[in-house]
Amino acid sequence: MDGRGRVFGTAFYSSSSQIALRLLSPKTLPAAAAIQQLIPERVGAAIDYRQRVVAGSDAYRLVFSEADGLPGLIVDRYGAILSLQILTQGMDSPELRHSVLDALVSRLAPAAIIERVDPRIRELEKLPALPTRVAWADGMAIGANAPEARVPALAFCMNGVRFQFDPMAGQKTGAFLDQRENYAAAARYAHGNALDCFCYHGGFALHLARACSSVAGVDSSRAALECAEANARLNGCEIEWIEANAFDLLKDYAAARREYDTVVLDPPAFARNRASVPTALGGYKELNLRALRMLRPNGILVTCSCSHHVSEADLLGVLASAALDAHRTVRILERRGASLDHPAILTIPETAYLKCIIGSVI
Ligand code: SAH
Repeated sequence: MDGRGRVFGTAFYSSSSQIALRLLSPKTLPAAAAIQQLIPERVGAAIDYRQRVVAGSDAYRLVFSEADGLPGLIVDRYGAILSLQILTQGMDSPELRHSVLDALVSRLAPAAIIERVDPRIRELEKLPALPTRVAWADGMAIGANAPEARVPALAFCMNGVRFQFDPMAGQKTGAFLDQRENYAAAARYAHGNALDCFCYHGGFALHLARACSSVAGVDSSRAALECAEANARLNGCEIEWIEANAFDLLKDYAAARREYDTVVLDPPAFARNRASVPTALGGYKELNLRALRMLRPNGILVTCSCSHHVSEADLLGVLASAALDAHRTVRILERRGASLDHPAILTIPETAYLKCIIGSVI
């Protein structure tokens, strides 16, 4: 409540996070039991929403934390497997964990639910360490000790492109699901020879391969590229995978006057906090400048930022400044965000973290 005793609502409190309070409800919830009762309702609403907005994919985000009124809970679906992350002290309570698993199992009857653990986040949130493991498997009672067994790798499909998926490994819960609609959008404009910088498992590259005469993907992680190559085989397409620092590679290619018809820039979050925004903008500028210099007339630039401290206006500003330096005119074709299964809530700007600008370079 505020200083005058006016109720703001009920929130999860964290003793260690920079975000001390995460609002759960504008009402006063009298007891922990009332919070527990919210869980099935909110999980159910989150699932219903995805059924309305997701098409053509059996992998998508089912629950997106604050955006679904469930602060600190992420659930992704990969076919019959659910991958769950718990990121806050509030959501980590045994009762709420039980309610979450119960709601997911009764609504979706998955084959298994994996809990993915980011040790850094548990440490920051002062939560006891946990391994990534099977939290529930078909036939098991909720809360029982999960089997030691690993859930085997499987394949999922988005926009008609197949991806292999190891539920127990990789970044995020396994894929960058937030880019799903942007992959399809990029492929609608892409043509000629394409370069996918920061390609990870090849999300953009595999989609571009359907529209382009040749595609190369660049990433500094060998493990990510091995997975990308396996994905390319799964889809019967030929893509050149290059293990390199994308900054160095773009510099070398620009110096060698290489030319492309399509360039994708999807770097990791450069700005982890507000103080690092100026440096991050410098990084975005360098990448975009080099890409613009290498694009042929009518070339397509797909440029992304997933740092929520960098706004769309910031990214457009950097792109404009790079375009001026490169003496190129950029026609904005689309200004996009994350796929609809990662809903952006108007009053929670942090939920609109992903920006994807598609431009035609004249
Ligand atoms: N475009 C991808 C997601 C990119 S995530 C997709 O849609 O799935 C960012 C990727 O950048 C990671 O795979 C990481 O390994 C890679 N990376 C980080 N720094 C890099 C650098 N300097 N050069 C090349 N790749 C880098």
